[in-house]
Amino acid sequence: MQSAEIETLKRDIRKLKPDELKKFFVEHGDKAFRAQQVDEWLWKKSAKSFDQMTNLSVATRELLKANFAINHIHVDTMQRSADGTIKNAVTLHDGLVVESVLIPAEKRITACVSSQVGCSLACKFCATARLKRQRNLSADEIYDQVAAIKEQSEMFFNRPLTNIVFMGMGEPLLNYSNVIAAIEKITSPKGLGMAMRRITVSTVGVAKMIIKMADDGVKFNLAVSLHAALDKTRSSIMPINDSNPLSELADALRYWYQKTKSKVTYEYVVWQGINDTPEHAQALLRFCKIIPSKVNLIEYNPIDEGEFKQASDEVLNMYMDLLEKNGITTRIRKSRGKDIDAACGQLANKS
Ligand code: SAH
Repeated sequence: MQSAEIETLKRDIRKLKPDELKKFFVEHGDKAFRAQQVDEWLWKKSAKSFDQMTNLSVATRELLKANFAINHIHVDTMQRSADGTIKNAVTLHDGLVVESVLIPAEKRITACVSSQVGCSLACKFCATARLKRQRNLSADEIYDQVAAIKEQSEMFFNRPLTNIVFMGMGEPLLNYSNVIAAIEKITSPKGLGMAMRRITVSTVGVAKMIIKMADDGVKFNLAVSLHAALDKTRSSIMPINDSNPLSELADALRYWYQKTKSKVTYEYVVWQGINDTPEHAQALLRFCKIIPSKVNLIEYNPIDEGEFKQASDEVLNMYMDLLEKNGITTRIRKSRGKDIDAACGQLANKS
């Protein structure tokens, strides 16, 4: 057997509960508090090997090496856009690849992370949809993407990472428990110590999971990729809308607001011939009135030969005027990292 194969057979130390690691040390004649030291290396310091754990004796490190693996992600290729955006191709311990993105702006640096390998949702305008869903990411694989981008932020920009968005590959609410576990570690003082209000989870709008999040009293921000507020149009571009229509989404959002008192952000691309009429804009306005909300009109990043085309500036302004006139905060979001296929909907493991 190759040594790499033996490594994958060993237990991933980060899957152990704190008590299990304590027990391991005691059973091997060591002190329970070693578990705390190891925990700090694994999460706070993002150690990738046991040899990095220099406050442990060589014997302890050897003991850990003999029994466990650290299934850390590998940032394989890093592409830099002319606008400063960095796209990482990340290899997971089983060889599958996902992408994550660092987006630098004037006041913030945002990490955009993936939650699944591929995606099952089949939105017609999204490149990730073409990869199909292969598996969910584990909590530590999500955490590692953020930790890696935090390091890049400090190394390349000399600034701290400020925001995290779950807008990479996959549907975070279809990998809910791992996303929540990752966020707990990201926000824990024992992990990256980041603030909940700096985290945004973006969803296609899985109604029953929005209700669950409301019941769980989550404190991060919610974004919904709406793109159309008329069922017929939405179903034609986002197949999930057939089984999860706008009325159900609306009910779930009402429940969300009632429980969390937290606004929602709608992401919306306007395409020629798809959702570019005043009727579509009116429908969006009605939807925005359901609970306090704001709108990000996102620039379309072409992924194919002309099937979808970004609407003209006039149409965008028509949307903008209508929404703003009615008190809905609306922003036009320009794409970042387009030249390296790092923008929204372009993540498809091309490299
Ligand atoms: N599944 C989640 C997370 C992915 S986020 C969700 O749907 O929200 C990726 C965001 O980019 C979503 O808002 C998605 O609708 C949008 N998007 C997908 N393809 C795009 C494209 N080609 N151009 C612009 N935005 C796109």
